[in-house]
Amino acid sequence: MSPEQQIVTIDGPSGVGKSTISRKVAASLSFTYLDTGAMYRAVGLKLKESGVDLSDDSAVRSCLATTSLDLIPPAEGCDDVGVILDGRNVSDLIRSQEMAMVASGASAVPAVREKLTSMQQEIGRAGCIVAEGRDTGTVVFPDAAWKFYLDADPEVRMKRRADQLRANGKAVDEVEVLEMIIKRDHDDKNRSMAPLAKAEDAHVIDTGLLSIEGVTEAILAVIGR
Ligand code: C5P
Repeated sequence: MSPEQQIVTIDGPSGVGKSTISRKVAASLSFTYLDTGAMYRAVGLKLKESGVDLSDDSAVRSCLATTSLDLIPPAEGCDDVGVILDGRNVSDLIRSQEMAMVASGASAVPAVREKLTSMQQEIGRAGCIVAEGRDTGTVVFPDAAWKFYLDADPEVRMKRRADQLRANGKAVDEVEVLEMIIKRDHDDKNRSMAPLAKAEDAHVIDTGLLSIEGVTEAILAVIGR
């Protein structure tokens, strides 16, 4: 298989362990890890800070036309991919619960999806990539060689997200975390453009039943590594 065809997509709802698992799969394969959620978070931040009305298509487009976005490797001691937005490091700023909701709102806007989808396809052109998100197997890379859809019960995802927040020294209200997960799932699955969905040819893995290592091994086994 040529390098351009070697694309792995890992989609699923929030809190399912996608980022950790995608990073591990990418490291095992020596592939590039593409965190598409980080791009939606950064663009959501830009639109919010610019005070753009998300229902005003031409205002959104002109704001995006002057936006520069670069993904950078995680900072020392951090797992998440970083983002430089218009020359400013917004890596920490985009990782809050609030920014997750802002990203979800921005991600339903057609101009945002068009722009980020084409950036992601450009990044993926050379192949050897593990793309993680909501629509990477259905819309961004429909011809990917290996597609996975990770899922887990919302309670399991809430516990995982709460543990992550606590590990980062943040106060946690579990009821609120669960409500946000359910709302984000609902909005991501019900938007009209590129909703969160399982690609027909994706392998489904319930991450509530396996450890992170177990899921990573299951994915690598399908890929044949
Ligand atoms: O994966 P992460 O939680 O960082 O994604 C933040 C939000 O960005 C998601 O809730 C979703 O609304 C949006 N997103 C998307 N399509 C992707 C990746 C993320 O709509 N491929």
